[in-house]
Amino acid sequence: MTKEPHLTRAPGGAAPPAGPAVLRRANLSLVLRELREHRSLSRADIAEATGLHRATVSNLMAELLERRLVREVGVEHVGAIGRPRRTVALHGAHVGALGMEINVDYIAVHGTDLSGRVLVERRVVYDTMGNGPDSAVRRLGLVAKEAVEAMRRAGAAPAGIAVAVPGLVDVTRGVVTLAPNLYWHNLPLADQLSSILGSLHVPVRVDNDANLAALAEYTSGIAAGTPDLVYLTGEVGVGGGIISGGKLLRGADGFSGEVGHLRVDPNGDECGCGRIGCWET
Ligand SMILES: [Zn+2]
Repeated sequence: MTKEPHLTRAPGGAAPPAGPAVLRRANLSLVLRELREHRSLSRADIAEATGLHRATVSNLMAELLERRLVREVGVEHVGAIGRPRRTVALHGAHVGALGMEINVDYIAVHGTDLSGRVLVERRVVYDTMGNGPDSAVRRLGLVAKEAVEAMRRAGAAPAGIAVAVPGLVDVTRGVVTLAPNLYWHNLPLADQLSSILGSLHVPVRVDNDANLAALAEYTSGIAAGTPDLVYLTGEVGVGGGIISGGKLLRGADGFSGEVGHLRVDPNGDECGCGRIGCWET
């Protein structure tokens, strides 16, 4: 069985239909992920690990080198005979990603470059509930702007921002459907943040905090590589994220893992969500 895609276009060729472009993007990601996990590899190693043809890997590598996302690191001699093989590694010092978190009483940012070097790390005390959504989004936008500028000064342009919110999120629209502990309801956070960031042009995504925490633990944290796991958060609220078969489980309406609002005591206290006796209470 082969995972080889139908990909023949050389860089600089005619614009392909959407299919091959999407496939090429996926393959570029695949190669970058492989390099992230193994530090340095030859093109042959990458072909073997990914199931892509050697020629395809060389073609993808040409683009990654041109974009300065990988660099040639050296020559590897395999055994006494055979050609020496050039190895490549992630470069990525000029591309980064910014993670943000907003909770009841703080805003946090964490920015790294592609190699994982931490460029920005900050936690700001902020009364999110008391200040209301408009002020909170403005403050979040200001903290994001400062972090993006700091990363750029450090030489890394953020390719995107992910914002973790303790609530139910419509990920495709970037809307916080309900965050009871923040008193947020149907807040178009991704759009509002994008308009504050304006000319900085950094794409914004919003997701549930426990989902992102589960993904982080699965990709590089304490449960790295564990394909099936449940992550529970318990700050002011209680939430959960589920990784199943190596993928984040979102559920039919995107509310998978939201265990904090399961009723555990029918005679309990009133919850921020308006129901009685949720686990969170
Ligand atoms: Zn509740």
